[in-house]
Order: sequence, then structure tokens, then C-alpha cells
Amino acid sequence: MTPSTATTSADPSTAAPATPPQPWRRWHSAWRRWSLWTLLVGLVGAMLITLVWLAGRYEASQVQSKLERDTADAVADIRTAFSHNLQSLQALQSGDPDLASWEHRAAGLLSLRRELVRVEWRDTQLRVRAHVETPYRVVPSDPETRAAAQSDIALACANARRIGAASYSGSYFQPQSDGMGSEMMELCVPLLENGRYTGFLTATYALQNVLVDVVATSLQRGQEVSFTEPDGTRLALVGATRRGSRMFQAQQLLDLPGTALMLRMGSWHSAPSVFPNVLTALVTAMSVALVTVMVVLVRDNRRRLRAERDLGDALAFRKAMEDSLVIGLRARDLQGRITYVNPAFCDMVGFTAQELVGQGAPLPYWPPELAQEYGARQQVRLSGQQVPPREGYESVFMRRDGTRFPVMIYEAPLINAQGLHTGWMGSFLDVSEQRRVEELSRTSHDRLQATARLATVGEMASLLSHELNQPLAAISSYASGSLNLLEPVADGAAESPHQPPLPEPLRGDLREVRTAMQRIAQQAERAGRVIKSVHDFVRRRDQSREMVTTQALLDAVMPLIRLQARKLGVQVQVAVEAGLPAALCDRTMVEQVLLNLARNAMQAMDDARIHPRVLELRVARAASNASRGWIEFTVADCGVGIPEDVAAQLFTPFFTTRAEGMGLGLSLCRTVVEQHGGFLGHARREPRGTVFTFTLPAAPAETAAAGAAALPGPASTR
Ligand code: ADP
Repeated sequence: MTPSTATTSADPSTAAPATPPQPWRRWHSAWRRWSLWTLLVGLVGAMLITLVWLAGRYEASQVQSKLERDTADAVADIRTAFSHNLQSLQALQSGDPDLASWEHRAAGLLSLRRELVRVEWRDTQLRVRAHVETPYRVVPSDPETRAAAQSDIALACANARRIGAASYSGSYFQPQSDGMGSEMMELCVPLLENGRYTGFLTATYALQNVLVDVVATSLQRGQEVSFTEPDGTRLALVGATRRGSRMFQAQQLLDLPGTALMLRMGSWHSAPSVFPNVLTALVTAMSVALVTVMVVLVRDNRRRLRAERDLGDALAFRKAMEDSLVIGLRARDLQGRITYVNPAFCDMVGFTAQELVGQGAPLPYWPPELAQEYGARQQVRLSGQQVPPREGYESVFMRRDGTRFPVMIYEAPLINAQGLHTGWMGSFLDVSEQRRVEELSRTSHDRLQATARLATVGEMASLLSHELNQPLAAISSYASGSLNLLEPVADGAAESPHQPPLPEPLRGDLREVRTAMQRIAQQAERAGRVIKSVHDFVRRRDQSREMVTTQALLDAVMPLIRLQARKLGVQVQVAVEAGLPAALCDRTMVEQVLLNLARNAMQAMDDARIHPRVLELRVARAASNASRGWIEFTVADCGVGIPEDVAAQLFTPFFTTRAEGMGLGLSLCRTVVEQHGGFLGHARREPRGTVFTFTLPAAPAETAAAGAAALPGPASTR
């Protein structure tokens, strides 16, 4: 896993912006690959063919030039042999021999030189004085055939005489008595003595023998050599019959005094076939090796492509897996530098992969106050002294915006393909939500307990109110009784005629007692009302809608509100619009809403800095057209106000900022108001405080008219 892979995979936003569709790209790259391979194969093929062709041509030219050298050598050999023979012939005349010794010498020469078949000594008239035949001919030439050659001899000798040197005749065919025959050529050597012609020596060459004895010894296998006329007529031939597939030819002119012969040499060669020589073999071997290497390369390339495709699939799979993970992954090398992070980790800490990869301690997501501790922990981890616990450990990280959050960390050594320990791989789980839920459940548990206690208190309050009703009723009736007794006495109106009138100072005292009694009766009545309202709240009631005047609603909660207001030093102001219709609602529940809102408002003002503390309760017709037929209740305070984060969760059950709060009040209020089809909302109040508003449906006019007599009319109080 390399950092570069990590960077690419971790940041999909860096992907190319406008790439052509996938299939087209794949087709294009496949076409390019195949065309390149075809071009390469074509070029290698063309190169091989050219190499083989050049090697063949080179080889052919070698054979040809060798043949030409051989031909030139053969011509030179023949010239040398002819000049040797000429000298030997001239040597026959040395010392003015008689006929017998001449014949003896000539026979010696003929037995040595097989190409010479006859030597004659002629006089100036060309008449034969002596002659010797070669001992190698089975059938000696008869005089008749000899006479046939006479003209050639005469021609050669005439020419020899003219040029003053030996001269050759043209070749001629001499049939033999055995039915065979051979091509002959005459040599005429003029004999001079003191500048005077004394005769001629003529020698007859058998051309076949010239080839056999002079040239054939140096001939190689597969070569043939022949004498031809300049026009191409073949005169004599020695050498191989056809062997091989191709005939190479070379020819050279053998010009002799008096005549000219063409020496033609031919060579059959199996030549520039595929393995004629080392060079071609080498080239061919290299070509075969090249083709083999190419085949291996193509196979290797195919395997590589397949592996590449598999790797691509595996990478895509891994990336999909990483992107779908909610667990953050981070790899570190042995120096503690980050080598890889997955997208989930980046989301968790709010830094991009580019910002994190390559970073060492202190890492940007370490809270500065804990950086030292974390650095020490990392040192211990990297030194290998301590193996991280399998069950993980908890730590605190910091997001980019500075907020802290708890994480569970699970770490394991990172082992590479060679089995070497190259670093540490860690997975991270953001446990802030888990902690929040745990906290919530703990506080709900606490609140449940508080609710249970409250329920008990409620029951006790109900019991108390019931119990207190009796003594209060007794106080009230005793007070009324006492008043009844005191009234005539204090007024002096019902004095008995038998009794003397009471003195004035006593009557004054009685009047004061009567006033005190009246106060006792009023307070007892008030206490009764408070107790009744507490009792009514605590008592379970069926949900029922009824027509209630707004004043009646306010009157029901005012004693309780005033109780708390007095305790907190809050001034309560009530304003009810004149001529309001009655509200159609569940009386007890709406009273509860009013009480909750008023209590929250007073608690919000329970701050030493806030003075004066005024709670406003307003009831009016809803102003907007859309809410015509609705009554709007407003509870306004000049308290601390509601911060935005609190406002977002205001109606969430169990949300509270107060240690002793339940967090149920507002959610309950909204439920009640919404059950009536109304709306509960809040707004900031300038310069300070909050305004809570809720609406209730007004009773229809006819219903209101019917019930008007029974209900106390709306009033405005302050
Ligand atoms: P409780 O009163 O038990 O805390 P509530 O649901 O009634 O629960 O209120 C929730 C929270 O809303 C309170 O803790 C308080 O922070 C805030 N709040 C409610 N009314 C006001 C107000 N008038 N001014 C400021 N804060 C308020």
C-alpha cells in the first residue's frame, strides 16, 4: 500500500474532469496496443526477410566472384602450359638432330604432355619429314584424317611465317575411326636457321586433353569447365554433372596468336538457400531467436495485461470497500509518519488525505493540550515495547474546527508481502454518538427517578389539598358564623331592648374584630382556591373540549403564577383584549401550558443581573388573516434569552439546561397546542428576553352566544 495509491484513492475529487466514456477508452487503448504489436511484428518480419535476402545475395556474389577467379586462374594455367609446350617443342630442334634422335626426343615429350597428340617436323613446303604420335591414343590418326587437317595447318603456318612466331590454328573436329572424335587445334612453330626458314614444327592439341590435364587438376567438385567458340558452340567439356539447384557461370577469353577460344566455367551450387554458410545460419538463428523472444514477449504481455486487469478489478473493489467503510483507517510507517488514510478517516477529522499523508508527530488532529501525552504514547508504540491491546483503547481527537470527539482505536502491526514489519495499521471509530446516547440514557434515568419523586409529591399534594379542604372549610364557616354574630353588635343595629347599649370604645374594638374575621374568611377562601387549582392539576381528567373564556383560563393559573412570582420578585402584567370570544379547548391542559410557559419565563429572569423582572401575559385575537378565528396567547419575559444551539433542541423531550429541569415542559406544551390545531413558537424579544406565542381555536359565534349566559364575560385586568 503506497502513499500515492492512498492519495488517489482517498481523494476522489481529484479525478479527471471530463473523460470519454469507459468502453470507448478501452476500445481505443486495445486498438492502439494491437496496432503497435502488428507494426512491431511487421517490422521484425520485414527485417528478417531483408537480412536473409541480403545474406543470400552476398553468398551468391561470393560464389560468383570465386568462380570468376577460378576461371581467370584456369586461363592463366592454360597459357603457362602452352608456353611450356612451345619451349619444349623448340627444344626438340636444338643441336640439329637427325631424324631418329628427333623422333626419340619428340616421343619423350609426348609421353610427358598428354594434351599433345602428334608432333610433326615439316619442311618449308609443309611436307612431313618425321612425325611422332602420342602413346596414349589407342587409335592412331590415319593419313586420311590427317590430310583433312592440312588446310588448318597451312593456315597456321602461313600466319606463323607472317608474324615470325608460333601460331595456332582454329579448332576443328577430327573424327576417329572408332566412331568417336575430338576437337583439335594445331600449333605451327616456324624453324629458322640464320634468318632463313628451314621448316616447321607442328603440334596437335586435343582440346579435351588440355582441359583434363591442365585445368581439371585444380577443378573442384560441382564445377565444370569447357572451351567454346566465341559464338557459344561448345568444343570440349570436363567436370561435374548437375549437382545443386543453381548454375553460376563465368567465362574468360583465351586469345592465342592466330585464334581465340572462350573458356567457360560453370558451378552448380545448392546455394543461397537457407543454410549455405555461417552468416546465413547466424542470421537465421538470430531471426528464430528474435521470433521466439517476440512470441515470449507477446505471451508475457498478455499475462501482464491480464494481471493488470485483475489488479484494476482488485483496486476498484478495495476502493469501493474503503469508500463504504464508516471506520477510519490510517497507516503509519516505523517513523510515525502517516502513509495512508481512507475517506472515512478524512471525514472524521476534517482534513484531506493530502494534508495528512507524510505528516509526523504532532499530528494536526491531536488536541494541543494532549499532544505531549500522545507523542509519548506514539514513541512507546513505535519502539515496539508495548503491543496495542486487541480490544482497543479510547482517545480524544480534534476536528479541523477545533471540536474534540472521543474515538476508539484498534491498532495492529503492518506486515508487507515480504513478511517485514513496515509500520502500524489503525482503525478508528468515532464514539461520540455512542457516548451521547449513553449520557442521554443516564440523564433520562435520573429524570425518571425525579419524575417518580414528583409523582409522589403530586399525590401527596392532592392528599394534602383534600385534607386541608376540611379545616379550611371549617375556618371559613367559623369565620362566617363569627361575622354573623358580630355584625349586629358591631353595627349597634340589632341591639336588644333589654340590654344596655354597648359603650362606644367596645363597639370600636368589635368592628376591628369583624374586619379581622372578614380577612380570615377571605384568606381561607383564597387558600381554598389555591388548593383547588393544585388539586385540579394533579387530578387525572378525561380529555374534553369545552368553551372557556380566556379570563377563566387566566384566573385558574394566576394564583399559582403569583405564588412563584412573589418568590422570585417578578411583576406580572396581564392584558386581555376586550370582546374576545371564548376558546374551545381542554381547559386543564391549556392551563398547564400557560403555567409551564409562565414558569419558564420567570426562571429565565432568575438572574441577579436582571432588574426589573416583568412577566407579560397577553391574550388577543390572532392578527393575520390566515389565523382568523384563533385566539393568540403571548407569554413574554425579559430574561436571558435562548441561544441558537438551545433553540434547535428546545422542543426535544428531555432537553433541558437546568440541573433540576425535566426537559418535558415545552415538548408537552407543543403537543397540547398542536392537538388543538394551534401553533406554538418563540421569538427574541428586544432588548432582552423571549416571547412565546401559542394559538387556540375560538368558539364559533352561535355556540358562544348559546353559552354566553353561563360564562363569565371577558374582562381586562392589570
Ligand atoms: P425544563 O423547564 O424542565 O428545563 P422545558 O422543556 O420547559 O424544560 O424547557 C427546556 C429548556 O428551554 C429550558 O431548560 C431552558 O433552557 C429553555 N427555555 C425555555 N423557556 C425559556 C425562556 N422563556 N427563556 C430562556 N430559556 C428558556
